[in-house]
Amino acid sequence: MHRWSQLFIPTLREAPADAEVASHKFLVRAGFIRQLATGIYSYLFLGQRSFNKIIGIVREEMDKIGQEFYLPALHPRELWESSGRWSVMGDTMFRLKDRKGADLCLGMTEEEVMTEIARKELRSYKQLPQIWYQIQSKFRDEARPKSGLLRVRQFLMKDSYSFDIDAAGLDVSYQKHHDAYCRIFDRCGLKYVVVEAHSGAMGGSQSHEFMVRTAAGEDQVVSCEKCNYAANMDKATSKLVPVEDLAATGDGNPLEVHTPGQKTIEDVARFLGVSPKNKIKTLALMVDEKDSKTGKVVPRPVVVLLRGDHQLNEAKLSSAVGGKETRPMQAEEIERLFWSPAGFLGPIGIEWARDVRQVERPILLVDNALEGRTNLISGANKEDYHLKNVTPGRDFQPTAYADLRSVTAGESCPNCSAPLRIDTAVEIGHIFKLGYKYSESMGARVLDRNGKEVTPIMGSYGIGIERILTAAIEQSNDENGFWLPPPIAPFEIVVTPTNVGDEKVKSVAEDIAQQLDAAGFEVLLDDRDERPGVKFKDADLVGIPYRVTVGKKVTEGTVEVVRRSTREMHDASIGAITGYFQQVLRPAR
Ligand SMILES: [Zn+2]
Repeated sequence: MHRWSQLFIPTLREAPADAEVASHKFLVRAGFIRQLATGIYSYLFLGQRSFNKIIGIVREEMDKIGQEFYLPALHPRELWESSGRWSVMGDTMFRLKDRKGADLCLGMTEEEVMTEIARKELRSYKQLPQIWYQIQSKFRDEARPKSGLLRVRQFLMKDSYSFDIDAAGLDVSYQKHHDAYCRIFDRCGLKYVVVEAHSGAMGGSQSHEFMVRTAAGEDQVVSCEKCNYAANMDKATSKLVPVEDLAATGDGNPLEVHTPGQKTIEDVARFLGVSPKNKIKTLALMVDEKDSKTGKVVPRPVVVLLRGDHQLNEAKLSSAVGGKETRPMQAEEIERLFWSPAGFLGPIGIEWARDVRQVERPILLVDNALEGRTNLISGANKEDYHLKNVTPGRDFQPTAYADLRSVTAGESCPNCSAPLRIDTAVEIGHIFKLGYKYSESMGARVLDRNGKEVTPIMGSYGIGIERILTAAIEQSNDENGFWLPPPIAPFEIVVTPTNVGDEKVKSVAEDIAQQLDAAGFEVLLDDRDERPGVKFKDADLVGIPYRVTVGKKVTEGTVEVVRRSTREMHDASIGAITGYFQQVLRPAR
């Protein structure tokens, strides 16, 4: 049993000035954490108790499917060079030099370390499958750390890696993780949704994210309430209502129209009396590519066409151009490359690459929603002019069609056509079929049944330990503080004597706390000599799900039980208290 008077629980009335989200405000106010530097936090007593309980649950469930390791956080450069990620990670990676001048980095993920072990140690299919996991600090030099523990530079992660002889084996390891993650998040009391995720350009084939819907999140989840479709914004698709194409005018070929002073999609559409859905939106971007002959990095123009009312999804575009990042083209670049004023760029009259490998020409990517459309309106590559009767495939040849747009709320579910909803969410876990990327690039090989050397196939799987706590707080808070699900709360019950100067009140509170403690509950006795109001405020603030208030009614043999989430209160006889908590906190399964 713990006594509040002897503990360090520095609660605050005010939240930090820069705190915007509930978890940031309350973790600091409740004395769970303190900031050491931007995006770097110390975990104090209550915070560490919660984290230890979360880690306990994660470990118990992971031990059912894998083996726990503990890997170094300090990695040599050579290791990251061997996978090609030393340069890919850019400024997000913390880098340092040792006294001899050798380059090192702080681990942000550990595919390389795990694959290094597999490469050196695994020799035969008989040793597979393997699932190895660890719970350890990770480091990311975030450009804008914020939101308390939601976006930090040092954080705790459970990361695991699977090695299988073939894709069927990987399916099994992946499903094991999926199921273990569901058990972990269920036990942590979170309401979450499993969404299809973008597997990126890392050669992965399947990926799911575990998301908690909350306004504090920076990710967006698209979901259908009718069927179980759910995907993150970078992966989500929708069924579009067919658009009626315009009738051809003149001889049906592209026809210049004068559109003086009309620059935006909406302006042009209004001026011509058509819907933005009949207009092509043209975006000009640049992607940095390495010239295969000279090895030099050269910018390559990428032009994207979308339906006039659609928005570009950058992650989808990035995977369409081989995982590279794009940047908007400058007006001067547009004029120099296409001889077009920036606001009037269009696809006709430019020689586009026939496929992305044809490097001497610009790439033209056209969103799937424009495939099969006719008589659209596009820019004419000429100041104050647009073109009518523009038909993709007839008047210009795209380098490729691709899914490039972001879904919007209310569009139809791709499976069942019900309207889709979009919510912001926080990612708490991610499972990912890596495929052969690391085992191949780092040269891991095992002998298969026939004595032939094969490359093991890998998966990688992460859980953000801090994310579990922050998501739980975002889900369950009010103006006075938060309440945590008992399995991850720092204590399950706080026993609050209203007046420790009253001998009877004090001794009954002691007795109750002792009894609950002896029965195996995690109890905090608020034995401080403070006014009841102060104690109640603190109890409401720090996330403990139940409070037992010991006050004047002890003379009648009664205390009050308060459930923090609902503020439901009821009197309970002192003798029945332990039995009550057995029932609500340890129900027989
Ligand atoms: Zn649906």
